[in-house]
Formats: sequence, structure tokens, C-alpha cells
Amino acid sequence: MSKKSLIKRRDFLKLSSAAMITGLAGKLAGKPLTGKEDEITEAARKVGKLPRRKLGYSGRKVSILLGAGDLAQAPTEAGILCGMNYWHKANRWMRSKTPDSILKNRDAHYCQVTIDRVGGSHYTGRFDEEAHCTYVKEALKQTGLGYFDDMQLHYGYHSTEELKKERGFVRAFERLKKEGLVKHLCLSQHGYAGNSRVPGGQSAAEILTAVVEDGLYEHAQFIYSYGADPEMDQFIEFARKKGFGTIAMKTARGIGRMKQDQEFMDKLPAGTSPHHALTRWLTTSTKLDAAVIRVKTLDEFVETYSGAGKNLRTRDKQTIQMLTVEADKTTCRLCTLCQPYCPQEIPIADILRFERYAMDDYDWGKAQELYTKLPTKANACINCQTCMQHCPQGLRIPQQLSRAHALLYKG
Ligand code: SF4
Ligand code: SF4
Repeated sequence: MSKKSLIKRRDFLKLSSAAMITGLAGKLAGKPLTGKEDEITEAARKVGKLPRRKLGYSGRKVSILLGAGDLAQAPTEAGILCGMNYWHKANRWMRSKTPDSILKNRDAHYCQVTIDRVGGSHYTGRFDEEAHCTYVKEALKQTGLGYFDDMQLHYGYHSTEELKKERGFVRAFERLKKEGLVKHLCLSQHGYAGNSRVPGGQSAAEILTAVVEDGLYEHAQFIYSYGADPEMDQFIEFARKKGFGTIAMKTARGIGRMKQDQEFMDKLPAGTSPHHALTRWLTTSTKLDAAVIRVKTLDEFVETYSGAGKNLRTRDKQTIQMLTVEADKTTCRLCTLCQPYCPQEIPIADILRFERYAMDDYDWGKAQELYTKLPTKANACINCQTCMQHCPQGLRIPQQLSRAHALLYKG
């Protein structure tokens, strides 16, 4: 290690209370980090300490950018050094390995178990008290976490009716809570309005409003990004008044495809980047409590998370405006407003969500697999254009669908 990097590391450790508390540096993942240690420490130094905010009724303070159990090892370690303390999908560590630095300082972190319906997909599966309890216990055994702070219903409810009548997930939570294995209840909520596989499906905002009124859940994760979204904005305002926690996910709408368009990228202002401006916007210009922004590498970690809690500069504002205009032309916001009007019952938002996995996250395998499983695909479109009258973005939906089919169908 060079003298220069030693000094940087020492300076950083002084700054990082997380590192001081846990003694993480040097053995972040349970094994000595050789050359990578310098890179991780340097990345964390560039990002600095992540601000924290209260999340939900319990008033727990969480880093305004959340970590995830499927985040790569190096950004995870850098995140810990920056004070990242909430881990969404911590049950994913069943597949990899729970970071030793979290196990050694377990109570300094909030770890969430994310639970799917059983006996089918999130459209067709059911809640099952017994199966959910068994899954949580197995996840605890395999991750070694001892308890989960949050038990999250993945994909949420189909409707307000289902929220009232189907209490299997809540009963599982109550049982596990009595045993000291979970502490708080939360959900991630997608929209199901007009989805032919979900009769009576409603929008995410409608269901979330009922969830807050129900009073059992403490916070929720939902799709949110730049551009007008009055329905979700109204929900966020309502949630804030009630003390219910709000977390944005799928936040980088269209950025992946924009990065492939050099002509567009060349027009962006210098001195910022789409992900950096996005972070500043999410963490200072919205009423959200926290956000999830996917990063894969240490470079992306620095570029993105270094904007956390910092106000938008003129160049960031311009970037957000340009991203909004471009995304409104190219990338569905997954609001589901168009779906109830499709005579062919095409799951438009699902198809365009899978297209986002491919075009923006570059996760082609997942996108193609999910698309190919859909019972009604985009090629059922008869180009009647009824849906377009209901799309707040004015997207050319039939063309989007046709392109998605060509890209994703593995017949
Ligand atoms: S244009 Fe296609 S997707 Fe839109 S409503 Fe008509 S059939 Fe459905
Ligand atoms: S196509 Fe338009 S209306 Fe339909 S889900 Fe996407 S953004 Fe919403």
C-alpha cells in the first residue's frame, strides 16, 4: 500500500463513524481484502457519510439510500463504511454469504426479509401463514442473522379488498414477531389495475393509501421516478402526514438506454451525470424518506451515491429535465393507467417493465424469461390505440409493445 493511500485511508477512518464502531476496515467481508481494500476505502471516502432519515412509525433512522442483499460485494463494503444501515432483500444472502461486518455488528443494521406468495407467481400465488413462517426460519438459519428487522411482502396486494380479506401474511408476521424473529411489517407494492391475471386489480397508489389507513404496515417501497406522477405524489404527501415510511424503487427510468445513445449523452451538462443528478433529486427534491438505486460496480457507487443528500445544482436540474423529456418519450413509468382499457387484455405495464430490465438494467436473461412466460404477449395487440388516450406520457404504446416482443420473445 502506498504512503498516499495509507493517509487517505487513515483520514477516511477518522471521518467514518461506521468504520470506527465496527472496526470494519481490513476485514470487511471476513477475509483480508488485498488490493481491493484501497479501492473500497477510497470509494467510501469519495462518497462520505450517507445522511439518515426516520422511516415509518418506529422512527428508526436509516441511510437515505438503502443497500440490498443482491448488491455486489465491493459496493456493499463501501456502503457499510459510508453508514449504509438498511438492507433490502437481506434473505438473498442465503445464496451468497452474509457480510461478516454485518454479522459482527448485527444490531447496527436493519435487515429485511422479502417474501413472495406461494403456489404461483405474484399474480397467481397465495398467502400461506405456515409457508411464510417456514421460509423466514430457513432464511434466518442460512443467513445467520438471528432475526430480521423487517418482514416485507414482495409485490404487495392486488386490491384493497384483498388487503382486508387475506390476512395470511399478517398472521405469519404476528407469529414470528411473538417468537422474536421479526420486528416490523412492510411491503413493496406494484400496480395491478387492468391486469387480466388479477381480476379487480387496482393501482399501487390506491392500494397503498388503504395500507396506510389499515395501520399495520410501517413503510412501503414503490415505483417512482422523475416526471409528473400526481397519483403517487398525493400518496407520498398522505403517507408523510400519517408517519408512514416511503421508499422509491425503479428510480432510474430509461437511464440505461440513454447511456447507449452517445448523441443524447453528449448534450448533457458537464460536471454531473444521470445517476448523480438522480440521487440529488431523489434525496433532496422529493418528499420520500429513502430510495433504492441499483449500482453494480465501485465506480457506479461513487458516481451515484456521492450525490446523496446534496442539493441540485443548475447542471443537475438541467440533467433531470433532459432525462424526464427523454424518458417520457421512451420509457414507461409502469403506472398501469392504460391497462384497463385494452380490449385484448394485454399486460402492458408488465411487458414494458420487462423491457426496462433488458434496455436499462441490461438484464436480458431475466427479461426474456419473464416475457416468455406471459400468457398474453405483445403480439396480441391490434393497434386500436385506445390505450394511448390514457397514457400520461403519450407513449406510442403499440410500437413499444411491438419492439418489446421482437426483443424479448424466445419462442
Ligand atoms: S393498441 Fe394494442 S395495447 Fe393498446 S389498447 Fe389496443 S390492443 Fe391494447
Ligand atoms: S404505457 Fe403509459 S399509461 Fe401505460 S403503464 Fe406505461 S406510462 Fe402508464
